[in-house]
Amino acid sequence: MRIITEPEIYIVGRQTIDSEAVQRFLADHETSWQTDGERGSELIVELAGRACYMSFGSHQFRKTNADYINNLVGQGHGSVLEHAVWDLLITGVSRSFTHELVRHRAGTAFSQLSQRYVDESVADFVEPGIIASDPQLHQAWLSAIESAHASYKTLVEKLAAKVQAEHPDLGRTARMKMAREAARSVLPNATETKLMFSANARALRWIMTLRGGEGAEPEIRRFAVKLARVMREEAPVLFGDMEIVRLPDGSEGVRAGHQKV
Ligand SMILES: Cc1cc2nc3c(=O)[nH]c(=O)nc-3n(C[C@H](O)[C@H](O)[C@H](O)COP(=O)(O)OP(=O)(O)OC[C@H]3O[C@@H](n4cnc5c(N)ncnc54)[C@H](O)[C@@H]3O)c2cc1C
Repeated sequence: MRIITEPEIYIVGRQTIDSEAVQRFLADHETSWQTDGERGSELIVELAGRACYMSFGSHQFRKTNADYINNLVGQGHGSVLEHAVWDLLITGVSRSFTHELVRHRAGTAFSQLSQRYVDESVADFVEPGIIASDPQLHQAWLSAIESAHASYKTLVEKLAAKVQAEHPDLGRTARMKMAREAARSVLPNATETKLMFSANARALRWIMTLRGGEGAEPEIRRFAVKLARVMREEAPVLFGDMEIVRLPDGSEGVRAGHQKV
């Protein structure tokens, strides 16, 4: 059993632009497009914005890709940002964290580790920083986790035997699913989980802003800060105004240069 205090974010999917298709579209419309954009996500957002007004042509190269997108964001034309999408694998987070993250409905998709199919007798646990930093509280937390985890393992074993006795025709997968789905009721919120999280730039900016704020719970706030760092590097034009700030309690938070778009 590992005790985890930091989330991990892996960007496993990002967009590319199909230059050939773009050139064909421009040729079909007897126009051209010059841009200094470099990243697929940021090129797609500029292309989407320009498609709204068919504002292509060589005379349009007055604005850089950054100028163009900053102008969209500044005007609150946020729907154009929905065309840029990423797929992130997130690990080292608790079930309480994911309960909060999945409340973000707009522009997101989630696929989370199943506690019905996956054996949690080898689970890890996420410890809140305020507990981890105090030896006595840490000890109290650890014994509660160990006790709950031990109960889970006992229940899985006994439930599997019960299901086998009562439903001898069931295969092992179905039998273990029935045992685990009932036994998981004693697992704590701190149980570590993993999920694939896909979201567009508009949703990501909102999640960082809201969950990186002073009122947010510390685990999701730490995630929001990490997400802001990762995405600022990934797409500096789209996320460059997501500033990492020091909050009054000394922890880090996120403040958006441009508020909700
Ligand atoms: C500090 C804090 C405390 C919280 N406490 C609680 C709590 O005690 N209990 C609780 O249940 N939840 C709580 N939440 C969760 C909160 O209520 C939201 O469910 C969550 O933050 C998702 O944000 P969102 O509503 O902006 O949704 P998102 O899905 O992220 O949507 C983004 C935006 O799209 C628009 N939108 C999305 N769906 C609709 C819709 N159906 N109709 C109109 N517009 C829409 C809205 O403008 C919304 O802000 C808390 C959140 C925070 C940050």
